[in-house]
Amino acid sequence: MKQVIDFVKANLEKEKQPAHALGFGKYFTDHMFMMDYNEEQGWHEPRILPYQPLTMEPSSMVFHYGQAIFEGLKAYRTPEGKIQLFRPDKNIERLNFSCQRMSIPTLDEALVLDAITQLVTIEKDWVPSEEGTSLYIRPFIIATEPYLGVRPSKRYKFMIILSPVGSYYGGDQLKPVKIHVEENYVRAVKGGVGHVKTSGNYAASLKAQEEAEAQGYDQVLWLDAKENKYVEEVGSMNIFFKINGEVVTPELNGSILGGITRSSCLQLLDYWNFPVSERRISIEEVFEAYYRGELEEAFGAGTAAVISPVGELSWNNQKITLPPSETETIAKRLYDAITNIQLGKEPDPFQWTV
Ligand code: PMP
Repeated sequence: MKQVIDFVKANLEKEKQPAHALGFGKYFTDHMFMMDYNEEQGWHEPRILPYQPLTMEPSSMVFHYGQAIFEGLKAYRTPEGKIQLFRPDKNIERLNFSCQRMSIPTLDEALVLDAITQLVTIEKDWVPSEEGTSLYIRPFIIATEPYLGVRPSKRYKFMIILSPVGSYYGGDQLKPVKIHVEENYVRAVKGGVGHVKTSGNYAASLKAQEEAEAQGYDQVLWLDAKENKYVEEVGSMNIFFKINGEVVTPELNGSILGGITRSSCLQLLDYWNFPVSERRISIEEVFEAYYRGELEEAFGAGTAAVISPVGELSWNNQKITLPPSETETIAKRLYDAITNIQLGKEPDPFQWTV
């Protein structure tokens, strides 16, 4: 039976920012979704209410043991003014996958989609329409039981908040980013939680990110934790290389997050019959390809930035720069194809939009 989602309307509407001032993740809409879990009732009381601070006990387990997961997806406005979600089923599936790994009770996927749809519908005026803008949707779960002791919490809160956003890195969407290949810190180990969207992964990445930024880089590229040799992923993107006419991306090995943009790129490349392989690739192979003149492109793929061409890579005291291509790149072709589907400007052969 379909669960009814209660709705309490906000008394005041917040002022909306102009598109150029949005940035990423700074402003939040008037309402949010919330649902609670306890052992007696399971997940219960789905509701949409005014966006507001939470009151929590300082002993809430999330503050101590970090049992928390999240998702990130976007709603887009089409030229006709309609609002579309991009592959929300994949984010909801990954949310439940994260629940399982982090010992959090899973959610009813149909209810989560209903919650996202209803919340976005209520906040439809918050979906911006300017080029490069969208409404970022952040579902997340936190452990709320007041208890000190390491074990799974017996209470949780599932929430969804919304944020109108512009470009992730600021400025031009396809502006090349500078990437530092991380050699001292590691992100994820085999058997760990690298393939899960859990908050601790991001906390653990901050120091490396901070040091890379101090040296003028936008993000770090992580290598495998065991040998410091194989390419894994970027801070919030999966990585792709085009080497001698073939697109190569690291295979999902249990320590890389299975990105939805990554999977969309692979599906598109396959649809275009473009040579592509998912395999282990060492950073040495990437640099050697560059020196042979065969590294044609490198780019990251993720919800926030969609596709980000890599302009510079530094590793092992070597810095390589990928000049902007004279011809149309595969990064640009993927960016156009994905954003045209997201924005409803082109037919959607894969039925990705909702
Ligand atoms: N890797 C990491 C570590 C991420 O946080 C993200 C963003 N969710 C991605 C890759 C890209 O995933 P997606 O395409 O689903 O946004």
